[in-house]
Amino acid sequence: MQPDQTPLSPGDEGPPDAPGVGEDLCSACHGTGTVEGKRCEICGGTGKVLQGIGGG
Ligand SMILES: [Zn+2]
Repeated sequence: MQPDQTPLSPGDEGPPDAPGVGEDLCSACHGTGTVEGKRCEICGGTGKVLQGIGGG
């Protein structure tokens, strides 16, 4: 376990410091962090997901 490492959300495609990966609005909750009153499981309630840029 590394305390300085942020756990990835299920919708994340890679670590935030990885090349070619950037934050994007979660397509499941549209950035709200909740879906139908419940915490979004795709982004973990953050409203953001990490997606690969430029393919993939
Ligand atoms: Zn979400």
